[in-house]
Amino acid sequence: MKQKLAVYPGSFDPVTFGHLDILQRGLELFDRVIIAIAYNIEKKGLFTFEERKELIQQSINGNPNVIIDSFDGLLIDYVKKVDATFVIRGLRAMSDFEYEFQMASINRTLNPGMDTLFMMTSKDYFFISARTIKEVAQFRGSVSSFVPAPGEKRLKEIFEGP
Ligand code: ADP
Repeated sequence: MKQKLAVYPGSFDPVTFGHLDILQRGLELFDRVIIAIAYNIEKKGLFTFEERKELIQQSINGNPNVIIDSFDGLLIDYVKKVDATFVIRGLRAMSDFEYEFQMASINRTLNPGMDTLFMMTSKDYFFISARTIKEVAQFRGSVSSFVPAPGEKRLKEIFEGP
């Protein structure tokens, strides 16, 4: 049976095919998924919240089961606020695991009512990260295999001019 609601938090700076794959698979398990764009003091980001939100919006084909929101502060507080129990995270490599394990453990200690569900990256996307895509775009490489067309267009405008 499907669970009601999950929060999928991240920077989404910008949204990639790797993110969208995890989202699609999350929607098989949950009726609705909130994509929660995190405000992170250490990660300033290339795109504004509005742009990130717009790029996600343009990539979900009007799916009414996806809600796009943003939050700052602790994830556990946001999860409580929207009355969710589950958080979805994608796992790529061992390097992701260490950080994710730490965060999931801290979050569960702070809020035992919340659980993190990890989904293993798909074979086609395991090497995709928003950070490396921005590097490729910066040096004018093609990012069409990594991000949906609107993101590709915006990256081109940023690094190569309109
Ligand atoms: P990043 O900036 O590292 O691409 P985010 O902070 O936006 O990622 O990540 C949001 C979530 O999506 C994280 O759980 C991250 O592990 C996951 N994620 C990002 N890229 C992928 C991918 N290619 N495959 C699976 N999960 C991914």
